[in-house]
Amino acid sequence: MQLYPEPLAFLIEALRKLPGIGPKTAQRLALYLLHAPVDEAEALARAILEAREKLFFCSICGNFTDVDPCRLCGDESRDHSLICVVEWPRDVVAMERTREFKGVYHVLHGALSPIDGIGPDDLKISELLKRVQGGNVREVVLALNPNVEGEATSLYLARLLKPLGVKVTRIAHGLPVGGDLEFADTATLSRSFLGRHEI
Ligand SMILES: [Zn+2]
Repeated sequence: MQLYPEPLAFLIEALRKLPGIGPKTAQRLALYLLHAPVDEAEALARAILEAREKLFFCSICGNFTDVDPCRLCGDESRDHSLICVVEWPRDVVAMERTREFKGVYHVLHGALSPIDGIGPDDLKISELLKRVQGGNVREVVLALNPNVEGEATSLYLARLLKPLGVKVTRIAHGLPVGGDLEFADTATLSRSFLGRHEI
């Protein structure tokens, strides 16, 4: 016997697919949405659709944007010869919070992970190489997450980038190992960026 009417079962199932949402939380969120005022539920549905429809990848840095190039890539006051490579768009937000970095970004959209079947072609690596080959890049700062995948990806990128004649640095350790950049506090991330070293 089905526990819920079908539309509710679909809603719970859809919510369950979100990261960090287990069956109980999915059920609680679904029931909350049913009790909430209709316009609140509509606003949420609209926000999801609008974000999906209006956002795309910046043709330069690969971050999500609604204009191309994105606001960071289009900002002439930033140092375009300094590229900070991160795994995810959320890491750009974490770096921006430090107010320490005045260069531009490159978002890989993940890290190398053979176990999960994620290889170089699944990441925006060739786009990064093209940017560096463009000639106006002085330094590439690797700011990947301090875990096995981040390490492996950093070494892989360093091997590809160094022959291109660009300085390759890496943010310093001091970030919690196994953690994500986005969870590092701003002061730690700031220190980590300032203490970056060449590899
Ligand atoms: Zn951009």
